[in-house]
Amino acid sequence: MRSWLGLVAIGFFALQVSCVEDEDSCESEDCHAEEDGALFEQAYDEAMEEGKEDGTDCSGVRVPDRTGFNKRVALTFDDGPNPATTPKVMEILRRHNAPAAFFTNGSRYAAAGAPELAKQIAADPLFILANHSHRHLNLAQQSATTVAREIDRTDALIRGAGETPRFFRFPFGSATCSAKQAVTSRGYRMAGWHVDSADWCYAAGGGTCKASTFRHVPDAMRGDMKAYVLQQVRANNGGVVLFHDIHASTANALEGILIALANEGYTFVRLDDTATWPKLNGSTAPVPNTKFIGDACATSADCAFMAGGGTGRCHAAKFCTITCAGSCPDQVGKAPTFCMADAASGSIPKGMCVSKVAAQNQSCAALPGTIARSEARFIGVSGASPATANVCAPR
Ligand SMILES: [Zn+2]
Repeated sequence: MRSWLGLVAIGFFALQVSCVEDEDSCESEDCHAEEDGALFEQAYDEAMEEGKEDGTDCSGVRVPDRTGFNKRVALTFDDGPNPATTPKVMEILRRHNAPAAFFTNGSRYAAAGAPELAKQIAADPLFILANHSHRHLNLAQQSATTVAREIDRTDALIRGAGETPRFFRFPFGSATCSAKQAVTSRGYRMAGWHVDSADWCYAAGGGTCKASTFRHVPDAMRGDMKAYVLQQVRANNGGVVLFHDIHASTANALEGILIALANEGYTFVRLDDTATWPKLNGSTAPVPNTKFIGDACATSADCAFMAGGGTGRCHAAKFCTITCAGSCPDQVGKAPTFCMADAASGSIPKGMCVSKVAAQNQSCAALPGTIARSEARFIGVSGASPATANVCAPR
């Protein structure tokens, strides 16, 4: 989450791992323009608010389960894997039989030894390997295309490590409703936190979390992360706790925190513990749906890929579509899409998304109700520029 501040403060290698290797334009300065204290303060404030428990909350911080923790704690570690520090965190957790979820950044997998660490996390029944985006950008400020790619690149790395990813956490806890939709429509649960250890702040200050870095830590605890964590866990009677396994200071403090919590009667549970986090793990989130615009369908139920936001439907020509003006979303691995006029839209013209002629639809042969044809872009109210494309249009 907030660890980038700490990384910058201690002159770590954040720039190279988070930006340079990516093909997206991301000058190092731009990458880190978001290391604005306001983001950290905003996340803290959001965590204090009552979340909506019906699944419509678009905060990346608030966990839908707000109460009933019954002295149960889920430990989470973000921003790794880091071969310099993650192994120690894993070793301590194993020694105390404490489950944990590791929210990893795909860009971190480029470090020597990192993919092996991810495999170890995936293989250990104590641990959950989870998705924290690729480059740790503020996804509330990125295009839909970038959000999708940030999710999907790390998704592929986690699968490559041997785990089917189920949990996503937004960098800085910073989300929008559409970004959340991109996450949940892929079958992910969005995991925020109740307790921020502020370990990034302690790390940035060499063991002291300075008021100028993060103002919420009581003065008496500015040099004592364990005390700050304990105070917050007690106040919540448990909860999801946020750490970062990329800080040596976190690894060093972890064992003392585990022992203190255990001594106070807290138990450590997994994020997928349905007794403690029923809403986080409940049946209300959209089921994974691999269909997308332009895929063959039988009924509109097949086209629920826009769950939580827009409504996908099965066109009479038996492909999934959504209404559009000017542009349509693309998804990695799927045929590119195009917005053309919907002849069935009646007196008020509307557009519909179709797939372009592509290998994924065997040049439209996979969609028997369609024919390859050049179509003009439906612009509607969008102000998009005129264009034509070869698409799989209804016959
Ligand atoms: Zn993070």
